[in-house]
Amino acid sequence: MKIIMLGAPGAGKGTQAKKIAGKYEIPHISTGDIFRANIKNGTELGKKAKTYMDQGLLVPDELVCDLVVDRVQQKDCERGYILDGFPRTIPQAESLDKALAELGESVDFAINVEVPDENIVNRMGGRRACVGCGATYHLAYAPTKTEGICDTCGKELILRDDDKPETVQKRLGVYHEQTQPLIAYYSKKGILKDVDGTMDMEAVFQAIVKILGA
Ligand code: ADP
Ligand code: AMP
Repeated sequence: MKIIMLGAPGAGKGTQAKKIAGKYEIPHISTGDIFRANIKNGTELGKKAKTYMDQGLLVPDELVCDLVVDRVQQKDCERGYILDGFPRTIPQAESLDKALAELGESVDFAINVEVPDENIVNRMGGRRACVGCGATYHLAYAPTKTEGICDTCGKELILRDDDKPETVQKRLGVYHEQTQPLIAYYSKKGILKDVDGTMDMEAVFQAIVKILGA
């Protein structure tokens, strides 16, 4: 099963993608996580990506596409995968489709998690990320057992630089301009599935499971 998660930044793509990956035993591939790991490790890719991420801009397609096309051909992706944060532009979607077509494959579901902009600002302002393992929490909706400390690895939680209010507005603008057109793109292919992302996390998950089937 090959799944794409669509939605604004902060809509809950990562939250749901992790749960789906667990239930269906397929890898969760987040391009944002890949870039953050590269930044942490000080790689050339990380250095390049950071200059865009810090400004709330998208990393150029040429730095993203090959990386994902390589990743989805690894052995652990044989039974499928869930892509979170990719594609984010029409050229990225076209490049994925082209690479899959060459393998005789295609995307099965594009799950569009719908959340209005006014809720997004609240979601991202309250999001906290672990500096150690990258786990994501929310001050109000997904709190840790001990304030400021990751439940999984015990490291400190931070507000991501790109979750600061001024960058969130920029990222929302970028989303509407460059990523939202993917909704029509996947709708035309007949694989778009809309989900109300304003429900609580478990209800959103159940709605997605219903779409994907048991
Ligand atoms: P994305 O991957 O789309 O950027 P996340 O999954 O990181 O978004 O979610 C953004 C923030 O909102 C996180 O702090 C997360 O804990 C919280 N969140 C996710 N889904 C919901 C939900 N259904 N209701 C309330 N808060 C949510
Ligand atoms: P995310 O964790 O998905 O919110 O991504 C964080 C940031 O990483 C984005 O704001 C972009 O700067 C960059 N990024 C992640 N995925 C992509 C992508 N597919 N294309 C371009 N930039 C991306």
